[in-house]
Amino acid sequence: QRENPYQAEYLQAVDEFLPSIEVYVEQNPQIEENSILELLMQAERVIKFRVPWQDDQGKWQVNRGYRIQFNSALGPYKGGLRLHPTVNESIMKFLGFEQVFKNSLTGLPIGGGKGGSNFDPKGKSDGEIMRFCQSFMLELQNYIGPDTDVPAGDIGVGGREIGYLFGQYKRIQQYSSGTLTGKPLGIWGSLARTEATGYGLAYFVQNLLKDYQDSLAGKKVAVSGSGNVATYAIEKVHQLGAVAVTCSDSNGFIYDEQGIDVALLKEIKEVKRGRISEYAERKPSAKYFSNESVWTLKESYDIALPCATQNEINEVSAKIIIENGAKIVAEGANMPSTLKAVKVFQENGVLFCPAKAANAGGVAVSALEMAQNSQRLPWTFEKVDGKLEKIMEDIYVTCRDTAKTYGHAGNLVIGANIAGFARVADAMIIQGLV
Ligand code: NDP
Repeated sequence: QRENPYQAEYLQAVDEFLPSIEVYVEQNPQIEENSILELLMQAERVIKFRVPWQDDQGKWQVNRGYRIQFNSALGPYKGGLRLHPTVNESIMKFLGFEQVFKNSLTGLPIGGGKGGSNFDPKGKSDGEIMRFCQSFMLELQNYIGPDTDVPAGDIGVGGREIGYLFGQYKRIQQYSSGTLTGKPLGIWGSLARTEATGYGLAYFVQNLLKDYQDSLAGKKVAVSGSGNVATYAIEKVHQLGAVAVTCSDSNGFIYDEQGIDVALLKEIKEVKRGRISEYAERKPSAKYFSNESVWTLKESYDIALPCATQNEINEVSAKIIIENGAKIVAEGANMPSTLKAVKVFQENGVLFCPAKAANAGGVAVSALEMAQNSQRLPWTFEKVDGKLEKIMEDIYVTCRDTAKTYGHAGNLVIGANIAGFARVADAMIIQGLV
């Protein structure tokens, strides 16, 4: 707090985290004896750099680049790169902090990091995106590598951007397939990585429902976003028998009573890189709500899957979600619910699934991509997807059982935070990083 008075998102992430692990800290004196919390809240390294690039008119532009190497107790720093005009040090640090515990929950050997830039990819030509990515990597390559720090995609960074970043890394350093994940398949990306976060989110919810002798079949689902996470969450809930009726972008949202047409969504967003308003122009059953959030919608649904961005659900929208009848809220985006919104959900009996557990499928498959790259062998879609399903089941069971062990049965926030933290703290102590 003293050091970062203006880093609102980072403080929010820490404020959510610290009270939830109190019971563990009380029972484990080694945490305080070794000042683990103080150490953990300081990123190991904060890298900030200038990214100059030339636009199509030949004019020089400049943006700020970041890489936060937050914690390496469990392995090389791992976490996505975000390209969005809102990116600043606070957002990078909140994402890096969350990533540490999320990666721990996967049970795989990866530390936590995050990076990105306040560059806005919207409306930029392929050439401009390429020149930006090349300039960004010119600096970033100093700090990353397959055994030190392995970036991936996040908002605004998909296969195209990872391809340009990878090409530039190779030019300056050497061919090293494990330096970035989320790569296109033609350059040793993993099958099922594109789908992983959204699919993983649906698997997490399916496991939760199983505990109540229920399933996704027949459920009505509200989803926000129309990017990577949202698209594949919608695809998987449909495969599991539910119907997703909404999606959105930063200009508005779609309500389609008949269920979102995933093929049309992909054509608009992935192929044409268009806006979601086009969906309503093409599908008569869909209504478009301009400049509104999905979470203002007043229609009944059973499950809410926020998959766009941080703080998209506040106290007011949380109440609307409850009035709409939602019994489960599972976070596909990182920290989409404010602290007050989470409180509203928990006080009203909503089963709340926090991001660091529910959206860990993406980074888990990124770690599987690293394993394939080390082996120099690609795995089948079924093999990767099967492992993802098992990892999500394990994460759910770990969160559920940890919450119960520490006297908070049903509270998956406490379960996720304690389970993720305990593994990192142990690894720090074992290595003498105290
Ligand atoms: P994409 O860039 O593919 O999609 C982001 C979506 O969210 C777009 O529809 C975008 O709309 C919308 N969005 C972004 N910012 C805002 C905003 N300020 N207000 C309203 N809508 C917004 O990103 P991803 O799908 O990859 O990421 C979505 C979330 O999931 C992020 O929180 C990310 O950190 C998290 N996540 C992603 C993982 C992954 O594997 N990709 C893994 C784990 C978490 P528009 O096009 O108008 O900007």
